[in-house]
Amino acid sequence: MQKKVLVTGAGGFIGHHLTSYLVDRGYWVRGVDVKNPEYEPTRAHDFHLLDLRRWDNCLQATAGMDEVYALAAEMGGIGFIETNKAVIVRDSTMINMHTIEASRVNGVQRFFYTSSACIYPGYKQREANATALKEEDAYPADAEDGYGWEKLYMERTCRHYREDFGLETRTVRFHNIFGPLGTYDGGREKSPAAMCRKIALAPDGGTIDVWGDGLQTRSYCYIDDCVEGIYRLMRSDYPHPLNLGQDRLISVNDLVGMVAKIAGKTIRRRHDLTKPQGVRGRNSDNSKLREVLNWEPQVSLEDGLTKTYSFISGELEKANRLPSRATSAVA
Ligand code: NAD
Repeated sequence: MQKKVLVTGAGGFIGHHLTSYLVDRGYWVRGVDVKNPEYEPTRAHDFHLLDLRRWDNCLQATAGMDEVYALAAEMGGIGFIETNKAVIVRDSTMINMHTIEASRVNGVQRFFYTSSACIYPGYKQREANATALKEEDAYPADAEDGYGWEKLYMERTCRHYREDFGLETRTVRFHNIFGPLGTYDGGREKSPAAMCRKIALAPDGGTIDVWGDGLQTRSYCYIDDCVEGIYRLMRSDYPHPLNLGQDRLISVNDLVGMVAKIAGKTIRRRHDLTKPQGVRGRNSDNSKLREVLNWEPQVSLEDGLTKTYSFISGELEKANRLPSRATSAVA
């Protein structure tokens, strides 16, 4: 029998890629979101536009499903999550709580929850030269305000549903996922996409704005590795939260340099210290990931960024937004 799975947030970046991956693996996929995927049509067998904050919609979405991948959330880069805490906590709590309870009511066997590196405590992330975060570092908790606390609370909810109701839950903590078909404009984009857009829009020799002093560090994981990791974790018997990210730490300034090289441009940086930059340094410790999944992300940052830059500059070109060679605007 073909397994039936629901992907929530299937109109979003990771959900859209995951839908295609699961279709390729032979699953029957239902996608649900409040919007269609932006850049190409969904390959889900069944796609519904539903607001999952609503209980009745969650019952409809999960009916007849064997497994659920819960990706729907209020999501964005640091600019968005620092200025929309109430919206994030309100909407994502309603989405997640209704989705997991409807899954239980409808007899779903496995529930996959997408948490985040934002659950890790601020006091472990004060240095640019950050010690990579292990799963057990989550407590004592001091999560990212709003977005991170909601994720941490939902991680525990998954544990309670597994222990008390026997719903098999799997929980991943993503570390900065990037790639083609992701948001690159409009305020919800994350740093790799924002850098690609700014550099594509800047002329050779031009200047781009960088939030903060650019010495803040992160690790970045390519989308193909992300969906592969999601699938491997879902099929595993590991019920605890697991990091999924790359463990190569890079500063935002070096990320700019890398994208500029890919673009073949000389780019100057103008640091905007009034903008939020999030924690000072964050990296993923992948020891547990390797142990549990016998695998780790494979795609290099250079290869991933090359594909991402090509997608974003292609979209900007289609929209006639790329600069002529003569201009010298600041992006
Ligand atoms: P995304 O914003 O592209 O996808 C989330 C989707 O949820 C969007 O398409 C949105 O329309 C949908 N959604 C929002 N409210 C909804 C509602 N009321 N009903 C139905 N759908 C609704 O984000 P993404 O990057 O694809 O993230 C997917 C998941 O992974 C999210 O839970 C996010 O918090 C988590 N995550 C992502 C990253 C990352 O680096 N991208 C990092 C950590 C965690």
